[in-house]
Amino acid sequence: MHDFLINKTRFPFQAFLFTGAISILIVIAGSAGFLVLQHNLLEKVEKKEACYLDLVDFRLKLMEFGFMRDQTNQSEATDDKQARVLLFMYEKLVTEMQNAGLQPNPSLQKAREELKELRTDNNFDIFRLELENTIAKAKIESMEASKELVAINQFFLFFILAVLLTLSITAGLLLHNNYRQTVIPLSQLAGQLKLINRNIPESIHETAVEMKKELTGAEHSSDITQITESIMGFCNEIEAKNKKLDEIHIRDEKTNLYNYRHFKEHLIIEVERARRQNEKVSLAMIDIDCFKHYNDTNGHIAGDRVLKVFADIISNQCRLSDVPSRFGGDEFAVLFPKTDSITAREVAERLRKTISAQQFSLEGEQPCGQLTISLGVATFPGDASDWQTLINNADRALYMAKFAGRNNVVTFATMKTRLGKTA
Ligand code: GH3
Ligand code: MG
Repeated sequence: MHDFLINKTRFPFQAFLFTGAISILIVIAGSAGFLVLQHNLLEKVEKKEACYLDLVDFRLKLMEFGFMRDQTNQSEATDDKQARVLLFMYEKLVTEMQNAGLQPNPSLQKAREELKELRTDNNFDIFRLELENTIAKAKIESMEASKELVAINQFFLFFILAVLLTLSITAGLLLHNNYRQTVIPLSQLAGQLKLINRNIPESIHETAVEMKKELTGAEHSSDITQITESIMGFCNEIEAKNKKLDEIHIRDEKTNLYNYRHFKEHLIIEVERARRQNEKVSLAMIDIDCFKHYNDTNGHIAGDRVLKVFADIISNQCRLSDVPSRFGGDEFAVLFPKTDSITAREVAERLRKTISAQQFSLEGEQPCGQLTISLGVATFPGDASDWQTLINNADRALYMAKFAGRNNVVTFATMKTRLGKTA
C-alpha cells in the first residue's frame, strides 16, 4: 500500500523546473546583452568626457597664447612656433573628437585653416568663439552619454526585478496549486487512513464511502483520485475478506451450519436475556441414528454427503432467529430463542418426520432400513437454571430418545415425569 502511495504521488515540479530554466536563460541572455551594451556606452562616455576635458585644456592653452602675445612683445618667431604647437595639438584634438563621435564645428574647421594667421586678432577671436561652441557641444554630448548609461543601468535593474517577480509569482502559483490539489487532499486521505486503522473491521466500508464523499466537489489532482480509488478498492477488498473471515469464524466447514463456538456464544446470550426478560429459551440436541453403521457400510465420504443433507433440512426447518448448529460428530444442536417447551417439541417432531420421510442414498443397509434422527429437548428456565445444565438436560433427553428405540423426540420435562412415575 505504501508503494502505490509513493509511486502515484507526483508533484508538478516539471512545470516549475521548466519555468525556472526558461527564466534563468532569459536572465543570462539579458545580462550578456546588457554587459556588452554597458561596456560600449561606458567607452563612449569616457571618450566624450576625455575629449571635453582636452578641449577645455586646449582652450586654456589658447588663452595663455593670446595673453602672452598681447602682454609681452615676444618675437614673431616665438609666436609662430607657439601657433604651430597649438595647431598640432588641435589636429590631435580633431582626431580625438572624431573618435568620440563629436563633429568639430564647420566654422571651427574653417578657422583652423586660418590658424596660421592667428596673430590677426580677428581670426584669433573667431577661433576662440567657435572653440567655446564646440566645448559646450562636447559637454552636452558627454552629459547625454552619461544619462544614457544611467538609463540603461536602470532599465537592466528593472528587467532583473521583473524576471525575479515573474519567477516568484509562478513559483507561488505552482506551490499554491500543489498545496490545494495534492497536500490538502493527501492530508484528508491520511486522516481517513488513520480512521481505517482505528476502525478495522467495523466501519471500513463507511470509511471508503466517506473518502469518496469528501473528495467529490473538492479540488484535487488526478494522482489523488487514483490514490483514493486504490485505497477504496483496498477497503472494499478488506471488507469482503473480513466478511469471509467472519463466516469462516462462525460456520462449520462440512455442514455450513453454525459451529460450536458461535452456538455457545448465542446460547449464553439467549439464556441471560431470557433470565432478564422472564422469557423461555429451548434447546434441541439432535443425533443421527446408527450413523457409525452408515459410515462403516458406505464410507466416510458418503457419510459426509448425508451429514450435509441433514444440515440443510435442519436449517430449512428453522426460523431466522433460531441458531441451527453442528455440535460435533453426528450431533446437531438447535437453539430456539423465546420458545417454550411445547413449541420446541412441535418443531423437533416436524424435523424428525421430515428426515424420516427423506430418501437418502444407500440408506437401505441401515439397521432399521432408513436414516433417522433422535432428539432431546430442554427449556430454560423450567428444565435448567444455566446454559450448561440446559445442554446436559437436552442431552439426557436425547439419550432417553435413543433408549426408547431411536427416531424419537423426548423432552426433558416428560422424561422427568416418566422417571418420577417409575420411581
Ligand atoms: P447412535 O448415535 O444411534 O447411538 O449410533 P451411532 O453409530 O451414530 O453412534 P456413535 O456416536 O457411536 O457414532 C457416531 C459416528 O458418527 C461415528 C463416526 O463414524 C460418525 N461421524 C462423526 N463425525 C463424522 C463426520 O464428520 N463425518 C462422517 N462421515 N462421519 C462422522
Ligand atoms: Mg449417532
